[in-house]
Amino acid sequence: MNLRTLDEVDLAGKRVLLRADLNVPMSDGVIQDDTRIQAVIPTIKAILDGGASLIIMTHFGRPKGQIVESLKTDPLADALSEVLNLSINKVDGCNEDFVKEMAQNLNPGEIMMLENTRFYPEEKKNDDAFSKDLAELADLYVNDAFGAAHRAHASTHGVAQHLPAYAGLLIEKEVNALSSVLESPKEPVCLIVGGAKIDTKIGVLERFLDIADYFLIGGALANTFLAAEGFDVGESLYQEDKITVAQNFLLSAESKRELVYLPLDVVVADEISSDAAALDVKPEGVELGMKILDLGALTIETFKKSIAEAGTIIWNGPMGLYEFPPFEAGTKEIVEAIAQSDANSIVGGGDSIDALKKYGYSEKDFGHISTGGGAMLEFLEGKELPALTMLQA
Ligand code: ADP
Ligand code: MG
Repeated sequence: MNLRTLDEVDLAGKRVLLRADLNVPMSDGVIQDDTRIQAVIPTIKAILDGGASLIIMTHFGRPKGQIVESLKTDPLADALSEVLNLSINKVDGCNEDFVKEMAQNLNPGEIMMLENTRFYPEEKKNDDAFSKDLAELADLYVNDAFGAAHRAHASTHGVAQHLPAYAGLLIEKEVNALSSVLESPKEPVCLIVGGAKIDTKIGVLERFLDIADYFLIGGALANTFLAAEGFDVGESLYQEDKITVAQNFLLSAESKRELVYLPLDVVVADEISSDAAALDVKPEGVELGMKILDLGALTIETFKKSIAEAGTIIWNGPMGLYEFPPFEAGTKEIVEAIAQSDANSIVGGGDSIDALKKYGYSEKDFGHISTGGGAMLEFLEGKELPALTMLQA
């Protein structure tokens, strides 16, 4: 994928409209994780260093096309301002006349931040008039919101039809890291998938039948696969309507002689709590009323051996209900094994990143941590990401 990048433009004296993904987890007004804020800093600096002025926009949460006080972008502007040590003028709008006027009057080096783009129903509709309004604010558009790249919204797609559009440094880095895995991965390639839902993950599993050498499947996703193998998964979280999908995947893998590792043993409990009594049993030993909540000890050992042998590892989705201590061993030990391996490792997914941080790991322990969960999965699946299409050379 050949993107138009920042190094191709003369930024001096230009007004740049930057689409960032500052959709950080926030609780009671406090940012819980600032990965996405940090991730866009290099692009902001590059734009300012180039002599441009900057108008930043982002979505934040799910306000559903209405103004929601708690989802205003003010705290995001404050956080950015603190990291940059520069003042940012937050405005209460996106496409209003007063916003246009303020944008016109920006001087090089000055930064303005728009209101949550999702306060406007036109954003998700990719409305052309709204896109044009946004485009009127600036001379150039830079998109660095990899986490939203799989959405064709006004701020990620429509606006790029009305301005010269370039990829920011984060999108460039994400695309390079993920492309290298698809194009020339160091073998053997190990795909580790867990988490809750099969829908968003099955496409990647299928695509990787031609790329991966083996698959390690955990989390609630594995429950659907165990059910597909005929095991009674009791009260476990699984998707009954996706059993056929899982069966078809297993059949395709078999015919391609791909190795799929499902849990050989599992941790079960009859309640989800921090002091639940957890038992390690074989899949056939899951009794009525029990929930499968983690990988068993034997499975963890088997998975770790495969991880140690891999040349490339792609991991998305926790191996169990890691939020509760009795069910965290699978996720914790798999994270540790990936961090310790010499393989090129790629990790993505909100909960997966939350887990690796919880266990004391960071960017430096992995080849690449993707800021996009859904976007990473769709990219690896080979889907066309609408926002990236607009940045293609
Ligand atoms: P990511 O955000 O990394 O893409 P997902 O959102 O797909 O991951 O899934 C993460 C969630 O799946 C976590 O909240 C985790 O507790 C849950 N989960 C994993 N395994 C199980 C399980 N066996 N039963 C219930 N929930 C599970
Ligand atoms: Mg998640």
